[in-house]
Amino acid sequence: MTLRGKTAVITGSNSGIGLGIARELAKAGANVVLNSFTDRDEDHALAEEIGKEFGVTARYIKADMSKGDECRALIEKSGSCDILVNNAGIQHVAGIDEFPAAKWDAIIAINLSSSFHTTAAALPVMRKAGWGRVINIASAHGLTASPYKSAYVAAKHGVVGLTKVTALETAEEPITCNAICPGYVLTPLVEAQIPDTMEKYGMDRDTVIREVLLERQPSKQFATVEELGGTCVFLASSAANQITGTTISVDGGWTAL
Ligand code: NAD
Repeated sequence: MTLRGKTAVITGSNSGIGLGIARELAKAGANVVLNSFTDRDEDHALAEEIGKEFGVTARYIKADMSKGDECRALIEKSGSCDILVNNAGIQHVAGIDEFPAAKWDAIIAINLSSSFHTTAAALPVMRKAGWGRVINIASAHGLTASPYKSAYVAAKHGVVGLTKVTALETAEEPITCNAICPGYVLTPLVEAQIPDTMEKYGMDRDTVIREVLLERQPSKQFATVEELGGTCVFLASSAANQITGTTISVDGGWTAL
C-alpha cells in the first residue's frame, strides 16, 4: 500500500491499458480518477467497483482528450493530482497519401497534445503538494516506426520528446516524468486492427497474431495491462525517485532488435 493517500488521474481509463493501470495503482493504495469521453452508467460503475475492491476513493470524470480545455478541466475537477498517467490514445492505419487529414488531427490531439494540456494543468498542483509523478504511455512506436502508422508514430515520438522536456523542467523538484513504451498488448485498440489485417493478408486470426502482430515482439507474447500497471506503480515508488526523462520499454524485446 505504498501509494496510500496519493491521487492518480489516468486519462482514457474505461478500457484496456488505462483501466489496468488504474486497477494496479488502486491496488497499491492510490485513490484513482478514471476518464474517457463518454458518460455512461457503466463508466461510473467501473470506478465504483475499483473503489470497493481496493478500499480507495475512485471516481469517473468525463473529459474529451481531443479538446485542450477539457484536458485541463479534468485536472481541475480531480481536485488533487499526485500521479498523472497520460494514456488516452487512438489508432488509424493508412498510407500517408491516403491518410484522412481529420484522423491525423484527432491522433495528434488525443495521443500527443492532451498530454501537454494535462501536464500543464497538473504541474502547479504537484508543486503545491510537493511531490508528483507524470507517466506518459508512449509506445514501441515512440522509439521505432512501422509503415502506415504516420500519425501514431509521429504522436508517440512527440510524447517521448515531451517527456524529456517535462523531466528537465522539474529536475530539481520532487517530481519525475517518464514514458512507458509498450509493445503489443491485446486490448480493444489492437483487436480492432485484426479483422482488416486478416482480410489484407488472407490470414486467419491466429496467424495474424503470430506472424504480423507479434512478428517484431521477440518474446512472442503480448504484454499485459497488469504488467503495465505494475510498471506505473514502480515509477510512482521511491525506488524511482532518480528515474526521470527516460523511457521504459515493456515490449518483449522489440526495441532490442
Ligand atoms: P483502448 O482502445 O483499449 O483504450 C484507449 C482508451 O482511450 C479508452 O479508455 C478510450 O475510451 C480512451 N479514449 C479514446 N479517445 C478518447 C478521448 N477523445 N478522450 C478521452 N479518452 C479517450 O486502447 P489501449 O490499447 O488500452 O491504449 C491505451 C494507450 O496505450 C494508448 O495511448 C495506446 O497508444 C497505448 N499503447 C497501446 C498498445 C497496445 O498494444 N494496445 C501498445 C503501445 C501503446
